[in-house]
Amino acid sequence: MLRETSTPVEDPSTARLLLRDLRATLLDFRRRQGFGRGISAVQIGETRRVIYMEIEGREYELINPEFTWRSEEKFELWDDCFSFPELMVRLERHRRIVLRYQRATGEWRVLEAEDSLAELIQHEMDHLDGVLAVDHARTSHDLAMRAQVLRK
Ligand SMILES: [Zn+2]
Repeated sequence: MLRETSTPVEDPSTARLLLRDLRATLLDFRRRQGFGRGISAVQIGETRRVIYMEIEGREYELINPEFTWRSEEKFELWDDCFSFPELMVRLERHRRIVLRYQRATGEWRVLEAEDSLAELIQHEMDHLDGVLAVDHARTSHDLAMRAQVLRK
């Protein structure tokens, strides 16, 4: 399922229930695992282009998100994923991005992000196209168990 490409949402108002499910799933996961900032619909079995994120006290509900710009500058980080919580992957992400997305009302919005928000968005956007963090690992040294990375 995680390898599938999600399809656009034709009527954004139909994504409201899905967004509620995504939020509940993310918050439940965070309570149990102690991390988790974002989730894509495919992670709960719905191949629709919908992302829910909660980071730094803000909630983001993104329907049909698309990048309109990505900086040439990149940075390296250890990424993790809700769908394989014990594994971490060292990878590169664009430092800054600009995204357009729809709200449940159908209205289009623009979101500019950098650093932690930007890398989170890139992670979740990958899910919509069936791409996983592990696909970005360049060598086996870029893969580690969570406990190992947190000890560093
Ligand atoms: Zn993920």
